[in-house]
Amino acid sequence: MHNLSKLNWLRGLRTLFRRNKPNIPAELWQSCVNRLPFLRNLPVADLARLKNLSEQLLATKTITGAAGLEITDEIAVMIVAQAALLVLNLTLDLYEDMPGIVVYPSAFLVKQKQMDGAGVMHEWGEALAGQAIDAGGAVVLSWEDVMGSTDFWSRRNVVIHEFAHKIDMQRGRANGCPRFLAGYHEGLQVETWQRVFAAAYNDFRRRVLSLERPLPDHPALAEETLRQLHEAGRRPLPMDTYAAKNPAEFFAVASEVFFVAPSGLAIDYPDVYRLLARYYRQEPIAAPTETPNSMRMHL
Ligand SMILES: [Zn+2]
Repeated sequence: MHNLSKLNWLRGLRTLFRRNKPNIPAELWQSCVNRLPFLRNLPVADLARLKNLSEQLLATKTITGAAGLEITDEIAVMIVAQAALLVLNLTLDLYEDMPGIVVYPSAFLVKQKQMDGAGVMHEWGEALAGQAIDAGGAVVLSWEDVMGSTDFWSRRNVVIHEFAHKIDMQRGRANGCPRFLAGYHEGLQVETWQRVFAAAYNDFRRRVLSLERPLPDHPALAEETLRQLHEAGRRPLPMDTYAAKNPAEFFAVASEVFFVAPSGLAIDYPDVYRLLARYYRQEPIAAPTETPNSMRMHL
């Protein structure tokens, strides 16, 4: 019977309301919102819509625990609330080809392989905080890293990162230029998007390479990178160096800071900020929650 109260609602939801949209209990919703600082001051009407979208995600997507993780109500709601934020003013159709979300307790190993110049295939295991699988695949998350993103000062957000990839995969493989939707993105042009993002990506990559350090190969190094920059008296980068890996990662990492700590992005790459605001149809810089993050950005 242990833990039953925690799990009761979600289990009941799956058996009793399989075909209908569930109502997330108000207390559970509020406790999750309180733990996501970038949601706290969303206007009431936006929060109500976010709850509604979260409930639709719970009703239509499976959330599966892996490596022994039991999915609690809290885990489910914390994840769908953040996934819903990206499409708050868009449509859940953007997640249509995603059957569900798989959650590991912590970073998970994924087998990688690459052919070298001599034609020899190398295989190794890479520990990931999250992964978005294209061609109708799932989003895979490490719960430990999801929780790490809820820190008040964090600029990283693994849920937003992976769901931004999922949105970017509407055309196939992620490339940093998501498909524009009729009825939502009139006036946005692919050529403008590609020109603005390519210029920002190239500039950001130059800045990162000028650090004369190897690029981190894992998002978890973000805070360490920031601290080292700060200690060295360098102007902080507006987002994690992982964005310099390729244009798809630039879009996903820029989407993270757009929602979580947008001031540095708006200052350093205002055209990218404006295009993201037009794509997501949101203006997070105006939200009062921005103040603490912007304070941090200008330390
Ligand atoms: Zn990524």
